[in-house]
Amino acid sequence: MLLRVLSLLLALVILGATLAACGTAQSAPVDGRLRVVATTGQVADAAARVGGERVRVTALMGPGIDPHLYVASEGDVSRLQQADLIFYNGLFLEAQLAQVLAQIGQRKPVLAVAEAIEPARLLAWDEYEDQFDPHVWFDVTLWIEAVHAIRDAYIAADPEHAESYRANAAAYVQELAALHEELLALAATVPAERRVLITAHDAFHYFGRAYGFEVHGLQGISTASEAGAADVRELAEFIVARRIPAIFVETSVPVRTIEALQAAVAARGFQVAIGGELYSDALGDADSPGGTYIGMMRHNMTTIVAALHEASQE
Ligand SMILES: [Zn+2]
Repeated sequence: MLLRVLSLLLALVILGATLAACGTAQSAPVDGRLRVVATTGQVADAAARVGGERVRVTALMGPGIDPHLYVASEGDVSRLQQADLIFYNGLFLEAQLAQVLAQIGQRKPVLAVAEAIEPARLLAWDEYEDQFDPHVWFDVTLWIEAVHAIRDAYIAADPEHAESYRANAAAYVQELAALHEELLALAATVPAERRVLITAHDAFHYFGRAYGFEVHGLQGISTASEAGAADVRELAEFIVARRIPAIFVETSVPVRTIEALQAAVAARGFQVAIGGELYSDALGDADSPGGTYIGMMRHNMTTIVAALHEASQE
């Protein structure tokens, strides 16, 4: 009996020491900056802008990477383990990372930035009851809420530098508010009835709601299930009936998806153009127009507007 009590005590002491060691490792980064890991490029960009010089941000997913399908590598797991703070989109965007994030979240602060948004402002995910559409960054006013949540997480993790996080967030939000107005003005240059956006997957519902576009995706809200023949036929018939001039490729979805749709439209005797490439679930290369969140949003809107304008002049 005594032996059992002693071994239990010993186990508790070891557990305590382990937890204490973890705590020390996390609160004392080598260069004094917080080690931040973010999943998507959009989240990483917001984390870097709000964190400024106080943080070092690593994004797990690079240009063109589809977060719906992304699986953590061994390197990712060790980066997540070494981080002081983790940001991800949430709302089931990074579906394959849910388990590893939940496990690591028991030991350190992990924030799902999209889940910090007022639920009343979220759109439903029709295929799953009680789930929301995760593509919240496409409405800049929603993304501003995510930026505020990132600021608050930094302040909680590093209260000493609260003022710096507040100032960075305020400056970024000001840029985002101006971006929102710019996007509204660009969208307004296309007649309302021509504002129809057709893309590879259903990533643009928030965009459509915010900027006044009717939106259709060939695949569902997740890319996990491929478009079936019926989906292609249905959307092709819609394009022909409405004489939609252009459809759009997404950088994080294979181009064949949209090419199959274009071919199905052609088979019905109508020509639909590929209006360009949009950044949907991933940023572009650092030196491309889509290298930042603001850049990607501006690129998308100007690409969409230009393609729909060109068509309306024919
Ligand atoms: Zn998506």
